Amino acid sequence: MIKTSDVLVIGGGLHGLSAALQLARDGARVRLVERETVGRHASGVNAGGVRRLGRHVAELPLSEKALAMWREMPELVGDDCGFTPSGQIKIAESEADLELLKARAEEVRGLGYEHEEIIDQAALRELIPAVAEHCAGAMIVRGDGFADPYRTCIAFRRAAVAAGVEIDEGVAVEALEREGDIWRARTSAGDYQAPEVVNCAGAWGAVLAGQLGEPVPVRAAAYMMMVTQAVPRFVEPVVGLASRKLSLKQMANGTVVIGGGFEGKPDVATGKTALDVQGLAKSAEITCTIFPILRGACLVRAWAGIDGEAADKIPVIGRSLVHEGLTHAFGFSGHGFQLMPAVGRALADLIRTGQPGLPLLPFSPGRFDKLLKE
Ligand SMILES: Cc1cc2nc3c(=O)[nH]c(=O)nc-3n(C[C@H](O)[C@H](O)[C@H](O)COP(=O)(O)OP(=O)(O)OC[C@H]3O[C@@H](n4cnc5c(N)ncnc54)[C@H](O)[C@@H]3O)c2cc1C
Repeated sequence: MIKTSDVLVIGGGLHGLSAALQLARDGARVRLVERETVGRHASGVNAGGVRRLGRHVAELPLSEKALAMWREMPELVGDDCGFTPSGQIKIAESEADLELLKARAEEVRGLGYEHEEIIDQAALRELIPAVAEHCAGAMIVRGDGFADPYRTCIAFRRAAVAAGVEIDEGVAVEALEREGDIWRARTSAGDYQAPEVVNCAGAWGAVLAGQLGEPVPVRAAAYMMMVTQAVPRFVEPVVGLASRKLSLKQMANGTVVIGGGFEGKPDVATGKTALDVQGLAKSAEITCTIFPILRGACLVRAWAGIDGEAADKIPVIGRSLVHEGLTHAFGFSGHGFQLMPAVGRALADLIRTGQPGLPLLPFSPGRFDKLLKE
């Protein structure tokens, strides 16, 4: 039996769930297929950072809209998803770092955004007394924070199902063919048909796009995370650095969650990852340089999650330039969690009206054409 719908969403990460939810609330009959289980990949295992701080300027309109939606999560999905507006801070480890941050804040202000604020060394120390002495100041965004990734997946799944989305797990799309005005998706569990397909396949989105004649330079990256034992409270905001890899937050239970972009090895075929212990050691060393207080803390767990990383480190979002009825949203390059509510809304508007309501042009799958020809 062929399963039909108005829209077929491929991928049960947060972007697939968010788009499916918004499309269904707009009245479409939506099916979503997920090869493994909902939230199994990046969406369920990420660092949960809800960050406008330091975003690529092309992402700022989406990011602003997304933050407004994070603040209203209970209205959107019936749960606050653990959103905690703790603030996010990027620390300068030298005067040169601080100059870079000031220039960035100035650039963003010139575009009409006021959220990035520079603080000096004294203000930094007052905010985070545990910070190392060499830290020279910081850029802070007070309304940012973090949320609980897996809880967010559960909330979006529940809301999507309540809105009428049919979710089939353990179903992998193996091939897509356009037959007249309809897509036929051949899957591991039979065929699906829909006039519209949304490719939200995360790190695997580029594989699907490539099969459909729309190659994009998006690789699979396995970002690593680690978590410490519970330690006495020493930091409120989520902490990053101006020129080294770090993302650190202390949870309500005292544990410290550390990431920032050190990579393990992804196995794209199986979806599994291997950790790079040297990378973890480097990450731990950076952490202890900024917070000497953590030198004696034990690590209790480490993991890696796979996301698609585009050559220019911003996602692929938009209508296919090759096929009718195909929309892409993948390759969020390690920072798609925060953007997710706004992207889902923009995709639903784009598919229903042809207008996304937010500037998506910088994310077009066609932007790589020149790069791919070279
Ligand atoms: C360790 C880590 C930390 C991160 N930290 C942050 C952070 O602090 N803040 C932030 O904003 N972002 C963060 N991110 C990025 C964020 O998690 C991702 O950008 C976002 O979750 C991507 O969501 P997605 O729905 O595109 O992809 P995914 O969650 O990967 O979902 C894609 C789904 O598609 C499925 N799929 C693939 N191919 C097929 C197929 N052929 N058929 C059916 N299903 C298929 C996969 O099984 C997968 O479940 C982090 C990512 C990682 C890995």
